[in-house]
Amino acid sequence: MLRNHRSVLSNIAVLSNIETHDPENPHCRYIPYKVTTFKDSTSETCFHFCIQGFSSLVFGRYSATTLIPPPKKMQSNDTIDRLESNIRGYVRSFPTVFQSAKGAWLTDSRGKRYLDFFAGAGTLNYGHNNPLVKKALMSYLDNDGVMHGLDTATTAKIELLEALDEIILKPRGLDYKVQFTGPTGTNAVEAAIKLARKSKQRSHIVAFTNAYHGHSLGSLALTGNQYYHDMSYGSHNNVTHLPYDGYLGDMDTSLLLKKMLEDGSSGLPLPAAVILETVQGEGGINVASFEWLRRIADICKAHDILLIVDDIQVGNGRTGTFFSFERAGIEPDIVCLSKAIGGGLPMSLVFLRRECDIWKPGEHTGTFRGNNLAFVAARQLLEYWRDDEFGLQVGANGVRIELELKSVREQFSSVCADIRGRGMIWGLEFDEPEMAGRVCRKAFQNGLMIETSGARDQVVKLLPPLTISIEDLRCGLAILTDSIQQAVGQEPVASKFYVPDTSSLEPGIHVGSFASL
Ligand code: PMP
Repeated sequence: MLRNHRSVLSNIAVLSNIETHDPENPHCRYIPYKVTTFKDSTSETCFHFCIQGFSSLVFGRYSATTLIPPPKKMQSNDTIDRLESNIRGYVRSFPTVFQSAKGAWLTDSRGKRYLDFFAGAGTLNYGHNNPLVKKALMSYLDNDGVMHGLDTATTAKIELLEALDEIILKPRGLDYKVQFTGPTGTNAVEAAIKLARKSKQRSHIVAFTNAYHGHSLGSLALTGNQYYHDMSYGSHNNVTHLPYDGYLGDMDTSLLLKKMLEDGSSGLPLPAAVILETVQGEGGINVASFEWLRRIADICKAHDILLIVDDIQVGNGRTGTFFSFERAGIEPDIVCLSKAIGGGLPMSLVFLRRECDIWKPGEHTGTFRGNNLAFVAARQLLEYWRDDEFGLQVGANGVRIELELKSVREQFSSVCADIRGRGMIWGLEFDEPEMAGRVCRKAFQNGLMIETSGARDQVVKLLPPLTISIEDLRCGLAILTDSIQQAVGQEPVASKFYVPDTSSLEPGIHVGSFASL
């Protein structure tokens, strides 16, 4: 295999060739080449990242004549293991020490790069260190802009509110007021359910099977997965979970809600609100049909129940429109937004219908409702939504992912149960959760970050940044396919070769991806 690459490299003189085996990852070999001529240039450095069984070759064109960069200081997770609580989670799935990040890529302290198809659980829709955000933040800080402002008026907040109104709300005919909550998604959910209860003077809330709304105790009561519950946390009073769309196969589960509300003996108290995700991200990428969403919205209206859409994971453009419910043609009374709205900085919002705004001043207060750096970031990122182009691009990339996953499902039909998704959130369901976990671990070794979701962690979830290049998207999908092949015990065949986006390459950074023949 190396010989093949050398023949590809035959037009360049290889002066040094030091092969490095990664002790933690025997699957990968890093082979930096120093070359004296590369087409018209005189002295360039070419890095070759090789995964056994694949052809993978990446040329970085650097004007510097420096050869192999000095190894970065190796850091390990020992400190984390020794000092951080047992609660830590993602560090177990992605066992390395990350050092830098740009766009769809992360680099660890050893210089190994990872393509990020997890995107901070849907927080990095616009990529890591989005250049628009970086520039605006640097200038804001340079001018000593207010960093923390409680909920006082600041120029950053006013500019964000005006942009939300002009770019998002008005073009969609939405007359929402904006509530800034504490910066976590769960706090936005807490605010939404408190407001609904206060507004309707009823305590009950209907949530759905496999729902995920956060971990503070109010939101946790709405979250389905028992893993997160403990009897000692107290009761789940005032919440009823009903079957989400598709939970009972082809049965229209909205009929159950309707019937139970109409039947005074069903045992379901008239709720203040129904809360739902249009696509359940943590629950296993369960996609509600637009018809089902419309039926639920109609039922809510008919019974004077508020409809809350938790758009924390699948809002902010994830499904191809800014709000995930737009194509369903519904208008929720309350919408929770968090994660990607701040471009990676903590910030959450609740949109509420004007008539729902019955809060007394400071009634749902919190110290960190004025993260002005996040306001600056959010203001910049709204520019992606000035016209339809970005949403269309998300839709087109969604189709690319769907087509690839269809063929993956066919190829691995013995282990793959289903594929589901909308826009750029997709799930690949395996019959056995163990297989989904193995695929994720293999993928990480191969330089791709993905995670599992679903009640049994049986679904591999794909959440690439919405700003990802087509080349990087293909590259990640190729790594996924090959990782499944390895997970099921087959050697990957060199069937696909993609050219990754090398525009952001910096000297000395290995590219964990595949190049064209
Ligand atoms: N709602 C949904 C739909 C989510 O996906 C999440 C986070 N995964 C939350 C609420 C909670 O957000 P946070 O973790 O920021 O509290």
